[in-house]
Amino acid sequence: MLSQELETKTRRNRYDYHLSEIIRQRAWVEINQQALIHNVAEIKGLLSPKTALMAVVKADAYGHGAIKVAQTALDAGANGLAIATLGEGIELREAGITAPILILGAINTSEEIAAIAQWQLQPTLCNPQQALIFSDTLSKLGQTLPVHLKLDTGMSRLGTPWHQATDFVRLVQQLPYLKIATIYSHLATADDPDRSEMERQHRRFKQAIAQLKSHGLPLPPLHFANSAATLVNPNLHYDLVRVGLALYGLYPAPHLRSFADLKPVLQVKAKVTQVKTIPPGTGVSYGYQFVSDRTMDVAVVGIGYADGVPRNLSNRLEVLIRGQRVRQIGAITMDQLMLDVSAIPNLQVGEVVTLIGKDGDQEITADDWANKLGTISWEILCGFKHRLPRIMVKSSSNKLVEI
Ligand SMILES: *Cc1c(COP(=O)(O)O)cnc(C)c1O
Repeated sequence: MLSQELETKTRRNRYDYHLSEIIRQRAWVEINQQALIHNVAEIKGLLSPKTALMAVVKADAYGHGAIKVAQTALDAGANGLAIATLGEGIELREAGITAPILILGAINTSEEIAAIAQWQLQPTLCNPQQALIFSDTLSKLGQTLPVHLKLDTGMSRLGTPWHQATDFVRLVQQLPYLKIATIYSHLATADDPDRSEMERQHRRFKQAIAQLKSHGLPLPPLHFANSAATLVNPNLHYDLVRVGLALYGLYPAPHLRSFADLKPVLQVKAKVTQVKTIPPGTGVSYGYQFVSDRTMDVAVVGIGYADGVPRNLSNRLEVLIRGQRVRQIGAITMDQLMLDVSAIPNLQVGEVVTLIGKDGDQEITADDWANKLGTISWEILCGFKHRLPRIMVKSSSNKLVEI
């Protein structure tokens, strides 16, 4: 049994743990709400008034925290949300979000369909068999659902082949309990400076639509564009655009920078937990992948690969302290990493290290990490684990709010 005093203290500590100031003691992800609002406005500025903006908040809003990002994007003028999985949709509904939510992934079981109906989510239908399962389940429930039909115009992922669009649409149109909300397709190469494959996909999309028209089928709203296509060509915008990466302030490819002024939303920060001096010839971290060649000041930082700092960046990572670039040394460990801080005089425990973000004139981006690792910024952003609290910075007060 806990004593009364200890019980009170424990309860208070549990509460304190959720205060931003406390959880910022080790490492955290900072979300700049103003940058997100700016990016929504910037993207909307590219769209004609008849084109809606669907904010893609799958994978916990690309690691940024889906609920707060969704709420902010909707308040800033986004018209709907897209997620990948049923669970992601339920999370948003449970948070009280009532905007239309499109599930981009495939749904194939009646259990999932019942949950979609219950939570009023909007599924993607990719083929006739799936449409029949939906119709069957929904007729048992006596409930009608808006559905979004997906055509494969060249991504070779989800969707009915574009040349079978007419049969597919006609079938779904005849099924009870299904109401076609939109028809859409997804681009494979929109971020390639060579636009020829994207144009080929677009010709197929237009061909499918023309066939629907020629068969007298009513045309619902259409959509085709991800971030890159939204930036690069207004002819691809149709009735709505599905924007993910650009919302988070990153460009799908360097040549797209001139199309909009985007600001990175996410920063990753951690604190120095110990500082020491090591003599020449001292090994650092597991396996001694780094050995000092001189007397060196070393800082230990409380963030590691279990937080989403890829171990493959060991000895290649740079971070920012007091606006200066500092080299990471030795193997990155699960919860901690080490820095050569010889150039930083009198560094103190508790000073902030910026792993991704701005400090003074210096900036390190998710693209920098992606380039070093031979991957894409999307994967870097999604890689930050839930152990890092997401803290939203509201600009007006510069107040930190845990999310
Ligand atoms: C993820 C996704 C998007 C968003 O892509 P970005 O390149 O991040 O803008 C759009 N549409 C579909 C179908 C997706 O899966």
